[in-house]
Amino acid sequence: MPTQVETNPFPYSDSNKRYYSYDYFLRRKFGAKCAKLPLDGGFTCPNRDGTRGVGGCIYCSERGSGDFCSDSSLDILSQLRDAYARLSKKWESPKCIAYFQAFTNTYAPLSVLREKYESALTFPEVVGISVATRADCLADDVCEYLAELAERTFLTVELGLQTVHDSTAAYINRGHTFAEFVSGYEKLRNASGKINIGVHLINGLPHETAEMMLESAREVAKLRPDQLKLHLLHVIEGTELASIYRSGEFECLTLEEYADIVVRQLEIMPRETVIGRLTGDGMADTLIAPEWSRKKLVVMNTIDKLMFERDTWQGKYTL
Ligand code: SF4
Repeated sequence: MPTQVETNPFPYSDSNKRYYSYDYFLRRKFGAKCAKLPLDGGFTCPNRDGTRGVGGCIYCSERGSGDFCSDSSLDILSQLRDAYARLSKKWESPKCIAYFQAFTNTYAPLSVLREKYESALTFPEVVGISVATRADCLADDVCEYLAELAERTFLTVELGLQTVHDSTAAYINRGHTFAEFVSGYEKLRNASGKINIGVHLINGLPHETAEMMLESAREVAKLRPDQLKLHLLHVIEGTELASIYRSGEFECLTLEEYADIVVRQLEIMPRETVIGRLTGDGMADTLIAPEWSRKKLVVMNTIDKLMFERDTWQGKYTL
């Protein structure tokens, strides 16, 4: 009987994955195992410091989604050395991408950003830089610098969107609208065709239906991003979301609901959009819900199995 790999109709895959996985993309681009090393550059966010709001997004942890980063008191090269030492225990001579992950990594004067990014580029095994940020934090001089940086290295700018629904964005204290997101996205696109642009969405936000999550995916597909990360909403201890969850105001998605939504979102995504992530990593000791998300491999396998059973793949229904 033919295997799932042999019967896989998706072109950008050498396994049973019926979507364009980031691992597949990196292996082909760099010819070796390549992994992202998360960094904390010591930034903050405009919806934390009062510029666009206070408190940050209601689901965001104290470390600004940088829970897997090294100590923020260390300089960038020290963080890279620490993270690379850990990576080298798993892989032989891996290459790496310096991932400025925690908080909003373009929310500082250009001189500060330049110093941190250029420092990362001096690390011998770094083959690219990835910058997580918000679409409303792309000043003109920053865009110019990013365009210049993209001439010298593989640069990805990851823009958090989370939802296209402004009512949800207001509820989660996102601090920007979908229209503002699109404006920042286009500004970056126009700055340079060489910048790899990623978009983040979160499934399971309070009071969103499956149809609303599909609508978010549809709108993102129209933008044709180079990369997409789909996250599952995690309820983390110490967040505003944790209090709301405990009050019973909303329920988390089940594994079956999540897998179904992800598969339908992938079906409408362009085939050339690399899928950077299909679920999030919740910190084991601070995760409140959903419990099932602790078993990441089970989540990934459930999605793969569902795509096989439905004989579907990324981009099946893309126009
Ligand atoms: S913008 Fe990002 S880092 Fe800042 S509060 Fe929201 S999720 Fe956290």
